[in-house]
Amino acid sequence: MGKHEAAFNPVTFTLWYEYAAGINPALTAAMDEVLNSGKGMDDGTVITLYQKHIAPADEAVMAKISGEMERLLTSVAQTASQTGDQAGAFGDQLTGLNQALASRDVELLRPRLTEVIAGTAEMKSSVEALQQKVSTSQDEINRLRSDLDRATSEALLCPMTGILNRRGFERKIESLLSQQTADGHSHCLVMLDIDHFKKVNDTHGHLMGDRVLQAVGEILRTAVTDANHAAARYGGEEFALLLPQTSLDQSIELAEAVRNRTKAMRIRNRTTQEVLLTVTISGGVTAMKPDDDAASLISRADAALYAAKNSGRDRVIAQA
Ligand code: GH3
Ligand code: MG
Ligand code: MG
Repeated sequence: MGKHEAAFNPVTFTLWYEYAAGINPALTAAMDEVLNSGKGMDDGTVITLYQKHIAPADEAVMAKISGEMERLLTSVAQTASQTGDQAGAFGDQLTGLNQALASRDVELLRPRLTEVIAGTAEMKSSVEALQQKVSTSQDEINRLRSDLDRATSEALLCPMTGILNRRGFERKIESLLSQQTADGHSHCLVMLDIDHFKKVNDTHGHLMGDRVLQAVGEILRTAVTDANHAAARYGGEEFALLLPQTSLDQSIELAEAVRNRTKAMRIRNRTTQEVLLTVTISGGVTAMKPDDDAASLISRADAALYAAKNSGRDRVIAQA
């Protein structure tokens, strides 16, 4: 992996992992072809291979997981229903025994008693079978749940930058809105947008534009050190930081760190190391208010971002 040009991010790691582990034959064949051609793995190739051989596999994984889950639940339901039938029959036997007891007729009582003794044994083994089934199902459900977690978290990532995609952003903002704020804290949202990015594409081409997006994604990914915080690619050249339990001042500080690191970033020619371009980024920061929903929170952060753009770009503006 280190011998190739492609950036080190979760997408690249996933590709090499599945290749090394030999768990994705179509991917292995496609990667062998690239490696044998001597072209090397660049970012474009990584994204193409990921989209072709890993992203669709996630859908297949989803289908497999839901199929297994359905089979499992059906079989538990069957056992539970058999136990239920058994319990119904046992109930009837007990009623019969009760009636026989009330009649005080020994001739009637004897067969009812035999029936209930047999019924008790059957009931015991039926309940044991259900217990056994539920306990093995529990293990299987746990395994399926972790498969599902993995598949879902991959569906929420942007393959190009390895941070959350728009869908991941939406999930995270909903969870942020539903969290209580701790004393002295708030939840903050930072929206960031690369300045004059259209010019980067126009001057250096779309592939170079993609390299800039990956580099900025990497800056955001490493700027987030709190496990509850998240970085996302909101769309195009717009990014976001979702910062639960964080003050407005701390959020501004984080946005400024991203802005400064973006400004300091040098995109170089990989062979000559010549600096090809630099970019700047603007940011808008806002804190959640009690009656906010996702739309009002995003729109306030956007308004702050717009103000940063209008007052000269390469700056962070906060709107409380
Ligand atoms: P401003 O400072 O006002 O934000 O100007 P801007 O040029 O950055 O904004 P504008 O919205 O005019 O242009 C955004 C550009 O981002 C246009 C679009 O082609 C480019 N873009 C969006 N997504 C991608 C992508 O995935 N890759 C590349 N290379 N470019 C992208
Ligand atoms: Mg822009
Ligand atoms: Mg934009």
